[in-house]
Amino acid sequence: MVLLASLALLIQSPQDLAHLVDTNHLRQFIGHLSAMPNRNTNNDSLKEAAAYIADEYRKIPGLQVEVMKYMIPKGQRIPVQKEVVEVIATLPGETDHRIIVGGHFDSINMQQVSDLGAIAPGANDDLSGTAQAVECARLLAKARWKNTLVFVAFSGEEQGLFGSRALAKRAKSEGWKIDAVLSNDIVGSSQSLNGQSDKHHVRLFSEDSSTHNSRELARFVEWNSRGKIRGFSPILVFRKDRFQRGGDHSSFNAEGYSAVRLTEDFEEFTRQHTKDDLLEYVDFNYLANVARLNLISAASLANADAAPEDVRMAPKQAHDTILRWTPATGKKYTIYWRETSSPIWKASRVVDAGKGEATIEKVNKDDFFFAVGAVGGIPVEAK
Ligand SMILES: [Zn+2]
Repeated sequence: MVLLASLALLIQSPQDLAHLVDTNHLRQFIGHLSAMPNRNTNNDSLKEAAAYIADEYRKIPGLQVEVMKYMIPKGQRIPVQKEVVEVIATLPGETDHRIIVGGHFDSINMQQVSDLGAIAPGANDDLSGTAQAVECARLLAKARWKNTLVFVAFSGEEQGLFGSRALAKRAKSEGWKIDAVLSNDIVGSSQSLNGQSDKHHVRLFSEDSSTHNSRELARFVEWNSRGKIRGFSPILVFRKDRFQRGGDHSSFNAEGYSAVRLTEDFEEFTRQHTKDDLLEYVDFNYLANVARLNLISAASLANADAAPEDVRMAPKQAHDTILRWTPATGKKYTIYWRETSSPIWKASRVVDAGKGEATIEKVNKDDFFFAVGAVGGIPVEAK
């Protein structure tokens, strides 16, 4: 009986795992850390919080946990240069391609910036993003994945994205192959105090760039999640972040990695960076759905073969569209297409790799965008 139960765990689908997201875990984690006066990156309380988070990750079998040290320079909101920490938990896969899921665990009180002891529970900003990453790790560690999954609790975000920049620069210098970064920042509430409410969506911000594939990552997360989380889906926002604001995904974009930001629909700005960012305002059912979205996205990307290369459309004038690409490791590929005015994929078809060619009948390349992706991976737009 025990053996059967453990075997069943190994063959669970991402959707089965997503059903196991537990609001009690999210509540316990956020409850513990938001009860500290603050987690200001300048304070020793940051190390205390990092130790707690690292211990939570160490409880999960199969994870390799690192408390990474880096220097934060003297500057605005930082009285003296000092060494600080953040937490990286790695679930090794068969390949060294990495998928990162994270949030930042530091907090700040902007009304009393010079008072490093000022109360800043930061329950939503951003224990919500940090907690859901731990929950994703707990569930994803129950199965084996082709690619390597990395769960990060960033620090130094509120002083200027220092923790994510330190990790992105380290990743670049060490040659990490990061396929995707899902940065979750303020994902724990479905309503604002002006009466707006939306339990059914989370915003997904992506930058359009020739140096990374973040826009296609966002489109893929939307496509892959369809119909998988009851009453919940992402809304694509084609901006790198909210107007004149920033987040940890941008540090990875700057190093050429595909990275997107998830943020609730209706933020309550008066609670952010104040003593009022409290546990009692977190909507745990909403946060659980955000965790499910991260889980099914990361699971798909973690099981995908390498992306195809040199994806193009045959130039010949024809009613059908012929796509050609250089296959990578995968035996099957997904072809996607959409009208040129559509922001999201409208149709798809799985084909055998063969010689890296597929014909989509009666869909004219003059009127549609096409892409080809490894099954479950980020599509590559056809040129
Ligand atoms: Zn934040």
